[in-house]
Amino acid sequence: MSYSQLAVSIAESPTLRLNEAARLLRERGEPVIHLGIGEPKNKAPIAAILSGASRLTTGDIKYSPTDGIPSLKKAVIRYTEENYDRIVAPENIIVSSGAKQVLFNLFYALLDPQDEAVILAPFWASYPEMIKMVRGVPVIVTPEDGSFIPRLQEIERAVSSSTKLMIVNSPNNPSGIVYPDALVAGIVELCERKGIYLIMDDIYHRLVFDGLKVPSCYRFTTKDIESTKVIAVNGIAKLYGMTGFRIGWAVAPRKLVEIMTNIQGQTTSCASVLLQAAAEGALSGLQSVVESLRLQIENNRNVVMNELQSFRGVKATKPGGTFYCLPDFRAYNRNSTELAEFLLRKALVVTVPGKEFGMEGHLRLSYAGTVKDVTDGISRMKWALDPDSPNEIYIGDRKYVRDWL
Ligand code: PLP
Repeated sequence: MSYSQLAVSIAESPTLRLNEAARLLRERGEPVIHLGIGEPKNKAPIAAILSGASRLTTGDIKYSPTDGIPSLKKAVIRYTEENYDRIVAPENIIVSSGAKQVLFNLFYALLDPQDEAVILAPFWASYPEMIKMVRGVPVIVTPEDGSFIPRLQEIERAVSSSTKLMIVNSPNNPSGIVYPDALVAGIVELCERKGIYLIMDDIYHRLVFDGLKVPSCYRFTTKDIESTKVIAVNGIAKLYGMTGFRIGWAVAPRKLVEIMTNIQGQTTSCASVLLQAAAEGALSGLQSVVESLRLQIENNRNVVMNELQSFRGVKATKPGGTFYCLPDFRAYNRNSTELAEFLLRKALVVTVPGKEFGMEGHLRLSYAGTVKDVTDGISRMKWALDPDSPNEIYIGDRKYVRDWL
């Protein structure tokens, strides 16, 4: 049996793989702490549940228009006006099964084989794989100064005559960094000057801390929605803690939306009408749910930073948003895959190797869970790695003694 070489070359999603490893360990009764997962623990907002449930009880669950149900599009138009200060038409919006599918549709719509897509490191692990799936070439820009923010000159150097698009994700998964406004303004100017599509993956744009507000990406362009190269991608997964509902959307020029709609029509037909109804409920219901989630995550961020500061050898950059941080663990092991496996085996803590995000020597820690998960998880990591920490620890009701340092 022979498979497509391209398909075989696509890496497994590291976070989904780790979720599975954690699930299997939990099933065996092991007290695993999951600092790998990118989803908040809250229940879906009541407005989303009621809206989805009332659609379900009609029993009338059929295909929806390929680009999304009109009432959800209306809610996205309102969202865009409130959060991006842009009035767009329904024809500028496509709804898909998660921001992930939106991104895939975009890459498929924009890239011919061998076209280049510029990605800024650290990056979300799915970008390069999705670009490879449509036979494009990911071009990674890694900040030369070892920080998580590339300089505009470094980005410009990565642009060639084959560059078709660039992706910016700020607040950033995996570092939690929010790019300075001046950098985003420079990137928008660069892309529009060179005719490159700029995909703003804004999935975390309202999960920001310390009174920060991420400006609308459209603030940096004078072009209208039909002629700008800026495309905004968003969804309900992270903002409302509705990861399993799988609804995301893009705001883009009409022609591009039309092409993406054709792609979606030939692949999934449409996002589930039931889940679109739930998403509409989330967007139209009380928005205080977003603020309470944000506050809880900001508190977790503070706890994580406190814990990491007392972790000898670990260098942590304070996240301005998201629910991730990407501390530097090179003092303990320069190989992040080895280190993550060691921590899972010895301390039953799931972390994600920084290598998966283009930052070897770092580990991505998620603080989307409870404060207890975060504090217990980091103290287990200290126990496993730091010779100055006490060499005995209770994990669950079992006492473990460290005998390897
Ligand atoms: N973009 C980034 C940066 C993400 O971290 C994620 C999910 O982890 C997504 C997009 C996908 O979002 P969705 O769950 O809506 O597909």
